[in-house]
Amino acid sequence: MTEPFTIAIDGPAAAGKGTISRAVAAHFNCAHLDTGLLYRAVGAKMLLGQDPADAARGLTAADTQGAGLRSPEVAQAASRVAVLPEVRAALLDFQRSFARRAGGAVLDGRDIGTVICPQAEVKLFVTASAEVRAQRRYAELVAGGSEVSPAQVLADVRERDARDRDRAAAPLKPAPDAVTIDTSDMTIDQAVTRAIGAVERARTG
Ligand code: C5P
Repeated sequence: MTEPFTIAIDGPAAAGKGTISRAVAAHFNCAHLDTGLLYRAVGAKMLLGQDPADAARGLTAADTQGAGLRSPEVAQAASRVAVLPEVRAALLDFQRSFARRAGGAVLDGRDIGTVICPQAEVKLFVTASAEVRAQRRYAELVAGGSEVSPAQVLADVRERDARDRDRAAAPLKPAPDAVTIDTSDMTIDQAVTRAIGAVERARTG
């Protein structure tokens, strides 16, 4: 892709968005932005005592790196700072300009198709049942050395879903023209094939 071409991929936690987004970006040879990392980086700074809006305004690329950002505590902090309109506003321009870079871009998050890039050429909403998502997240956390229980992970997923869906600012929901992919009963390969097919259809009109 040489012209700007935006692929917006939204959905709840652990539905497979990240894996699908990376695979779609690699397939079409375009850039990828995991926008959850922006909120995680702000959440991590809040846990260290910073004001979230100040942290969002001063965010640097280095802040979005580091394994610590993947912890359940930081995920919860991210969803707490994500309800704040000033935090969302501070992160808006960066995401929009990333979306329109030459060569195309995949952005994954919660509000990409609804708020950040309502004009995106392709919008996908990747979802799965809360139980399936919690099982996946549990396996990931255990593989990464975290000591968590399946029940705790399910409770965390549900709490984060509720906060993301029910907030006033940019709540999690599919854009009216999004293609929904429910990955509950799919393998990763099947979900990726479905996503690539949806992008191909949009490109060829
Ligand atoms: O996608 P990830 O699980 O890393 O996102 C962490 C949190 O950041 C989400 O639970 C959500 O509250 C917030 N987020 C958001 N908007 C985005 C991406 C993430 O509100 N575009």
